Amino acid sequence: MATIGRFQRGEDIFHAKVVEGTLFRLRGDVFGSPSFDKRPTPRKGVRTLLPVVPSKIVAVGLNYADHARERGEAPPKDPLIWFKATTSLIPDGAKIELPFPGHRNDYEAELAIVMGRRCRNVTPAAASRYIFGYTAAQDITDRTLQAAEGQWARSKSFDTFTPLGPYVETKIDPHDLTIQLFQNGQLRQNGHTSEMIFDCFRIVSFVSTNITLLPGDVILTGTPSGIGRIQSGDRLEVRIQGMTPLVNSVK
Ligand code: MG
Repeated sequence: MATIGRFQRGEDIFHAKVVEGTLFRLRGDVFGSPSFDKRPTPRKGVRTLLPVVPSKIVAVGLNYADHARERGEAPPKDPLIWFKATTSLIPDGAKIELPFPGHRNDYEAELAIVMGRRCRNVTPAAASRYIFGYTAAQDITDRTLQAAEGQWARSKSFDTFTPLGPYVETKIDPHDLTIQLFQNGQLRQNGHTSEMIFDCFRIVSFVSTNITLLPGDVILTGTPSGIGRIQSGDRLEVRIQGMTPLVNSVK
């Protein structure tokens, strides 16, 4: 496997391998040992969905030192985690809606881990065996509410606040990737995943210590520095090296 997406034509929902824009339909369990059609699936009338349907989204905060600095926070000693509602997910191309446009609402480009196997209490050394792959995400945040409330869940879980996708890369080194956010074509965030305080394997190990991760579960690994405010009409693009860009605009 390499680049895997989830698609819909009419009532038909399916996973497929994406090779230079051409789809090869997957047969069997995407997290098992699937096979792929030899002949391409016509693209006409096909919509790109979220690449997976997670039972939960775990998010990690302040995982890049430069970002912790710009937030005026000390880098955490252990991964700082919380949950985002799965109903906050939107696929590539869908619109972000701001319930409080008068608040400060921010973009946050993030690398997302997609789990491939049920796991509990795995070591960092074993973690990669439980990971299906990686994709791009945004952790859209109502900064005004985040500051006003002790909990971060609400300010980051509004409907449409977690753009994800478009595809999952299953063969990629997650710790050697540039990660960028473009706002209306302007480069705003320009980080590298090697700068994470806790790498993907340590994050999976830490979360799995007490929380069972299921196939399809998504972990957002934190945002680099350069966060900033979004406004209605903005076009936001997350570009992670080796991945198809994730593009969403703000309604
Ligand atoms: Mg974040």
